[in-house]
This record gives sequence, C-alpha cells and structure tokens, in this order.
Amino acid sequence: MTKRILSIEDQVDNRQIVRDLMTSVGYEVIEAIRGDEGVTLAEQSNPDLILMDIQLPGFDGYEATRRIKANPKLCRIPIIVLTSYALSGDEEKARAAGCDAYLAKPFDAMKLLAVVRQYLTS
Ligand SMILES: [Mg+2]
Repeated sequence: MTKRILSIEDQVDNRQIVRDLMTSVGYEVIEAIRGDEGVTLAEQSNPDLILMDIQLPGFDGYEATRRIKANPKLCRIPIIVLTSYALSGDEEKARAAGCDAYLAKPFDAMKLLAVVRQYLTS
C-alpha cells in the first residue's frame, strides 16, 4: 500500500521540495496551503503522516496540529513540524501542540526521509 503524506505548507518552493523528495521514494503526496484547509483535508483523506509548516494562513501550524490531535479519528496520524522559525521556544510550542517530531528548515533531505520512514513503519 502506497503511504499517503499530507503536506501543509504555504510557500510554493517548499511545497515543491517536499513533493519532489517524498514522491521520489514512492510516497503519495497531497497538499494544503492553509492551516484550516489542511485540517479539512486530513479529515477527508486520512493520510498516513502529516508534514506541517507553522507560519500558515488560516490556522497556523500550532492550531492545525492541536485540532488534528484533538480529533479521535485523526489523533494517531504522526505530525512532523517543519519550520523556519529560528526563535527559541518554537520546538517547545510545537511539541506542546502535540506534534510527534520537529525539524528546522532548511532541513536535511536524508534526515527528513529518515524521520518520515521511522513514523511510517512504526
Ligand atoms: Mg509558511
């Protein structure tokens, strides 16, 4: 079964990087640009894993993460936060919102793939 990854990211360049990377290893990628749209798409498409930006229109990544993790049908979907926020406290806020893992941008492609694989096989 092809694993489906939901990428929630508002920057077109970052969406393409994630899409190219994930499809290159055989994952299916679906995308949302806004945080609220991402929550809706998670409900509709039941992805195997979510890659979440923080700075998003609509709900930001923290709010989108909280809403997904508060939904009993979605709460087991792993959420990996990818953020370029360099300010300290960001990782703590992301983890408090319920994310499973956190990577700062610019992320290392192999490291991201390793984290994604870890969550998709467990
Ligand atoms: Mg953004």
